[in-house]
Amino acid sequence: MVILMLGAQGTGKGTVAGILSKKTGWPQVSTGDIFRKNIAEETDLGIEANKYIAAGNLVPDDITIPMVISRLNEKDAQEGVILDGFPRTVEQAEKLDEILKTQNKKVDLVINLTTPREEIITRILNRRVCSNQNCKATYNLTMHPPKKEGICDNCGFKLIQREDDSNEESIKNRLNIYNKITSPLVEYYKQKNVLTTQEVSEVINHLGQDVAEEVYNEYIKK
Ligand code: AMP
Repeated sequence: MVILMLGAQGTGKGTVAGILSKKTGWPQVSTGDIFRKNIAEETDLGIEANKYIAAGNLVPDDITIPMVISRLNEKDAQEGVILDGFPRTVEQAEKLDEILKTQNKKVDLVINLTTPREEIITRILNRRVCSNQNCKATYNLTMHPPKKEGICDNCGFKLIQREDDSNEESIKNRLNIYNKITSPLVEYYKQKNVLTTQEVSEVINHLGQDVAEEVYNEYIKK
């Protein structure tokens, strides 16, 4: 089953994808995480991608698409996969359809998360991530703080703030790009009858964990 996460930054795509990945055993493929791993390891791809990421811009397709194709061809992604952060443009969505077609697959479920804008900005500013690239646990200083300040509960590594989360200009740029370039994908997948929209908000006490449970029970569980 091919599942996609859609939604602006800070809506909880990573949280929902992570829970669904544990429940199904299918890998969570996050393009942002793959880029960050390459940046930490200072690979050529990482150095090139970071020029765009630090400013909050999209990494060009000639870097992003081959990276996704090679990840989708890996053995662990054959039975099912949860894509988080790809596609981000209609062109990428069309390309994904082409790639999946060659494997006799299609996008089966798109989980679109929505959150009020003010809540998104506060969440991104409060987001901390584990510096261990093999752990990648995410915390929120107010909603989901670590037990010990600055330290990951799972693996004991230091928590850090993503460079693109610490800079308000970059956050606003990413949200604008989402609204202009990525949000048309909602209509794209609605047309294909594979979209479910879920609100994630503290105000209505409906968070990523709740969405993951509900979507799993309704659409994924056999
Ligand atoms: P994320 O962790 O999903 O917020 O991604 C972090 C950054 O990686 C984004 O702001 C983009 O610069 C880049 N990125 C991630 N996914 C893509 C994609 N599908 N296309 C282009 N750039 C991407």
